[in-house]
This record gives sequence, structure tokens and C-alpha cells, in this order.
Amino acid sequence: MSNDQLNLPTLKLVKYEIPNSAKTYKPNAPFMARVIVNEHLTEEGSSVDIRNIVLDLSDSGIQYIEGQSLGVIPPGIQEDGRPHRVRLYSIASSRTGEFGCSQTVTLCVKRVIYQNEEGQDVRGVASNYLCDLQVGEAVSVMGPTGRTFLLPQDDSVNLILVAAGTGIAPFRSFIQRIYRDKKHWNGQVRLFFGARNGMESIYMNRKNDDIGQYMSQETFEAFNAFSHAETGTPRGYVQDQVHANQEEICAMIDEGNFSFYLCGMKAMEAGVEEVFRNHAERNGRNWEELKAAFKAQGRWNTETY
Ligand SMILES: Cc1cc2nc3c(=O)[nH]c(=O)nc-3n(C[C@H](O)[C@H](O)[C@H](O)COP(=O)(O)OP(=O)(O)OC[C@H]3O[C@@H](n4cnc5c(N)ncnc54)[C@H](O)[C@@H]3O)c2cc1C
Repeated sequence: MSNDQLNLPTLKLVKYEIPNSAKTYKPNAPFMARVIVNEHLTEEGSSVDIRNIVLDLSDSGIQYIEGQSLGVIPPGIQEDGRPHRVRLYSIASSRTGEFGCSQTVTLCVKRVIYQNEEGQDVRGVASNYLCDLQVGEAVSVMGPTGRTFLLPQDDSVNLILVAAGTGIAPFRSFIQRIYRDKKHWNGQVRLFFGARNGMESIYMNRKNDDIGQYMSQETFEAFNAFSHAETGTPRGYVQDQVHANQEEICAMIDEGNFSFYLCGMKAMEAGVEEVFRNHAERNGRNWEELKAAFKAQGRWNTETY
């Protein structure tokens, strides 16, 4: 079915461009970055450990933009004797970096500890390596990578941002670009964020308010869902907040001037999509066809892991 038949705008979104002069590093020739900051983003008493890690990229020639990822190569070898494979981490800072220095990059890393088939705790290789790094230590990085999960150049576009856990990382970068660097965004920005509880509400809690501080911006609104909320606070998942706000969000999508982004654990994708699928079907439209058209226009962006 053509875009005309679907009643869709045919214009492809023009996204921010990756500078031509930007240098990219490969896994076999990485850049040695240095740790400037490694601090907790989760509050004391939280059952998970999520870190704010800032790296110094001085003299690398790297020029990343919002929505890209950086690869980290843990030292040592795997069980089969080969070097550890690269793990990707979403860049959480805007292109202007931290402390007014574009030669810095911020990552948001969750310490992964999972249970093997025997029920024993196993520590994820790269995340534990990163979370345990000390200030001043060197770390091998490659990239930056990613050419699609990018912001549109036109600031009248309504942005729908959906994240769970560390999926919030690229949205800190987006929000910094929009409200810190550019100071304004004309379109509406709606952020939906899911975590277990308020202690894990990263960038919007007592430890770090890097996103929360922009809540008073005229075009910005954030909705949090806590699956293991403290007593007295309603429990829910990110898709429940998307569902509760579907009227506004679906109107943005129907109008056509939007860009949708979803980042975080793969498990949340189906529940969030269900809201849009139901809306499309109520209006006699085929969701899979719509989504394919949105993807082709650069309006439907997902990065799950
Ligand atoms: C594009 C992209 C962006 C990413 N951005 C981020 C980010 O911003 N922050 C971040 O913390 N991670 C991010 N990740 C995930 C990251 O790349 C690693 O997969 C993660 O840190 C686990 O690696 P590890 O070496 O510690 O675990 P490994 O030694 O590789 O073990 C991973 C095993 O842990 C299990 N596991 C349990 N929970 C998780 C979990 N939450 N994530 C992954 N595996 C899990 C899985 O079963 C998996 O088999 C991103 C991944 C992609 C592809």
C-alpha cells in the first residue's frame, strides 16, 4: 500500500547529521579513553547499581551526536581464548559533553548480575568491568556507532520518548541537546520512563536530576511508572503510562509530525506497541503497514537489548 493510500505524510524526517570530519574507531584499533567520573545514579538501598561514567576522549577526534552509542572492549579473553567482544552503550551526553567539554562522553551503565542454569550468580563481563573502574583508569572504546536513532533537525516535530531502565541514557542526551544546548524545542516532548521504584528513577531522583530539572520547560512532560513502587504510590509499567496518555500521543501520530523513540530492554517493546496497534485497528488501519511506513520515514526508532 502506498503512503497516499495510508494517508501519511510522505516526507522523510531529516535528522541531525554526523560530522564528516568525525573519527570512528574500530574494535581492532580502539581509542584508550580515561575515566573522569564513576558515581552511582541509583540511590542508596536500591537493589540495582547503575552508574554515571564520564570518559575523557581528548585527542581522539571523536565527534559524536545525540542518539549514538559507544563500544567498550573489556580487557582479557573469553573462555574460548578469543578477546572479549565489544559491548555497546548508548551515549548519555549531548555533543557538547560534560563540564563544557565536547571531548568527554557520558555512559549510563547497569551492573548486570544474572543467574546461570545452576542458579549461581554470574557477573556480566563488560558492565561489571565498567562499574568497577576507578577515576584515571584507561578503557578501550570503539565507535561511535549508530546512524538512525537521531533527533530531527526540525524542532517543530513532536518527540515521543519511551524508556525503561538504562534505556533512558539516549534521552538524557536528547534533553540536554534540546533544553540545555539549544534552549528550546517548539514541538512537544513526552518522556515515558519505567523503573522498579523511585530510587531507580535515574536522572530524576535525589542523586541526579539531569532530566528532572527540565520538567518546568513549556514543551516537556515526563511520566514515570514504577513496577515495584513504595507503598502508597500506584504500581505500573511504562506501557501503562503510554496507555494512560494514548489520546495525546496517538493524536500526535495521526497528525504525522512526530518522531517516536523506544530504548531499553526488549521485553517492554511489545506492550508499548500494543497501544499503537490497538489505536490503528480501532481506526481500521493495519499497524504493521503503518509502522513500516513510519520506519521508512525515520519516525519509528527503536533500540532494544
Ligand atoms: C545499542 C545498545 C545500547 C546499549 N546501551 C546500554 C546502556 O546505555 N547501558 C547499559 O547498561 N547497557 C546497555 N546495553 C547493553 C550492553 O551492551 C551489555 O549487553 C550489558 O552491559 C551486559 O553486558 P555484560 O558484558 O556485562 O554481560 P555479559 O557478560 O555479556 O552477559 C550478558 C548476559 O546477562 C544477561 N542479562 C541480564 N540482564 C541484562 C541486561 N540488563 N542487559 C544485558 N544482559 C542482561 C543476559 O542473559 C545475557 O546473556 C546496550 C546494548 C545495545 C545493543
